Amino acid sequence: MVKTHPVFNPATGEQISHVAYASAEDVDKAVRKAHAAYPAWKATPVVDRVQPLYKYKALLDKHVDELARILSRENGKTLDDARMEMKRAIQMVEVACGMPSLMMGDSLNDVSRGIDSRTVREPIGVCAGITPFNFPGMVPMWMYPFALACGNTFILKPSEKVPMTPARCAELLMESGIPEGVFQIVDGAKEAVDALLVHPLVKAVSFVGSTPIAKYIYTTAAAHGKRVQALGGAKNHLVVMPDADMPKSVEAIISSAFGAAGERCLAGSVLVPVGEAAEPLLKLLEEKTRETHIPPVITGEHKRKILGYIEKGVEEGATLRCDGRTLAAEGKGYFVGPTIFDNVQPGMTIAREEIFGPVLSVIRVNTLEDAIALVNSSEFGNTTSIFTQNGKAARDYQSGVEVGMVGVNIGVAAPMAFFPFAGWKNSFFGDLHAHGKDAVYFYTEQKVLMTRWF
Ligand code: NAD
Repeated sequence: MVKTHPVFNPATGEQISHVAYASAEDVDKAVRKAHAAYPAWKATPVVDRVQPLYKYKALLDKHVDELARILSRENGKTLDDARMEMKRAIQMVEVACGMPSLMMGDSLNDVSRGIDSRTVREPIGVCAGITPFNFPGMVPMWMYPFALACGNTFILKPSEKVPMTPARCAELLMESGIPEGVFQIVDGAKEAVDALLVHPLVKAVSFVGSTPIAKYIYTTAAAHGKRVQALGGAKNHLVVMPDADMPKSVEAIISSAFGAAGERCLAGSVLVPVGEAAEPLLKLLEEKTRETHIPPVITGEHKRKILGYIEKGVEEGATLRCDGRTLAAEGKGYFVGPTIFDNVQPGMTIAREEIFGPVLSVIRVNTLEDAIALVNSSEFGNTTSIFTQNGKAARDYQSGVEVGMVGVNIGVAAPMAFFPFAGWKNSFFGDLHAHGKDAVYFYTEQKVLMTRWF
């Protein structure tokens, strides 16, 4: 019997759909189909391979409101946020359309007398992508537009919690003229993922999700000879200097910590006021947070987990300045209100672990050096930002932190499609980051050609 998983609307708690889980046998069929489609797709000139992607971009633009509605309904984020996500997704397709230039190699004549040398980039074969629940429109597109434009075939295993947005995007991709077998979706969970990780015909695996699973994906797929990039979880610090523009910084901090209910890997979850910044910052932050409305979190189970972290913060002695449990107790849906803990100590659970909800922990420090040391003591290194008007402080911060994506006066320092995206330390396992030129390098293998004519 086919195993299925319910899909809920997080705003109401009602079941809106269900998804069938692929078995290892289903995955094997999909991989063989992708493998069979690969030679013809690889042999298609890159200028022709990107033609369906141009059509895909136009179709996505045309259907952006419909896609945003599906996304908002299954993920819970606001319609505006869902639309923004789809726009970011479309930018990935736009960049991938430039593959004829992006894939170009280098050449040098007479590397030795009469010998010319050049590099070419070739696709690698069947690639797989495994994606999380929080960006069902965008994260899959960090992967497949690039992989396909490079000449690979691709199998996507989206999050079982939000299968509808990727499915609708896939329908539009098929409509754009991508040949049969070049792109497929297998829905499911662990069994489907495990089958992809060990399948001998899968050559590369891209993963985005939590750190324990990222580690598992990285080690398992690498042990089976695959190229892997695995983006994991985060605990992101927002540092505020006494000279920061407080109203603008507070606006950015609220959007970072509580936007999308804190379910972003780039969400600020630790606020670090330096010295005298603390009092004016926290007064304004508390006032504005009380006026902030946020969307629900993904599931009832995740809501309970977040509430557990709030209990833990209280137990460990942090000061609760805004209590999201009040909203959580009301009505239907998986809501948790914006929560702020003050006087958090670096060793506390809420200071160290990823909560992935609307909970902001405030750790007060005395100096910029203390702030940098605090950030660098984290096991994660995804993103961080500093709020200041002082160029030297900003520069010292940007060069001092061991973090992959660093902002100055920016709440969510998300790299655009043409730059690479990934963290450091336990936020990332692999070498080549997502999108930008790294995606081209990840989805191709380099060959050096040397030629001499007698
Ligand atoms: P998750 O790790 O639970 O799931 C991600 C994917 O892995 C899903 O497709 C899921 O089906 C699969 N999976 C789950 N358990 C598995 C297992 N035991 N074996 C094999 N596959 C398994 O993550 P999530 O809850 O969907 O997403 C939230 C997490 O993703 C957060 O930790 C967040 O920080 C992270 N995230 C990171 C980035 C980034 O760029 N670093 C971006 C978005 C989300």
